[in-house]
Amino acid sequence: MKCNNCGANLPNNSQFCSVCGAKVDSETRWDEKEEKSFLKFIKKIIFLPITVLNLIWILLHFQDKA
Ligand SMILES: [Zn+2]
Repeated sequence: MKCNNCGANLPNNSQFCSVCGAKVDSETRWDEKEEKSFLKFIKKIIFLPITVLNLIWILLHFQDKA
């Protein structure tokens, strides 16, 4: 990643520029937010069918007992 203030090359996940001392974490945090919302989206897609299948299985199970 690059420092927004002076353009120095910085290691990823650094919060402050080691050259000019400027805060550089805002962009990283935005990326993390994007990544988290993307993961939430993926989890919804994966877990929703599993939840529905579980409900169907439970319904069938109770029907067998009755
Ligand atoms: Zn800098």
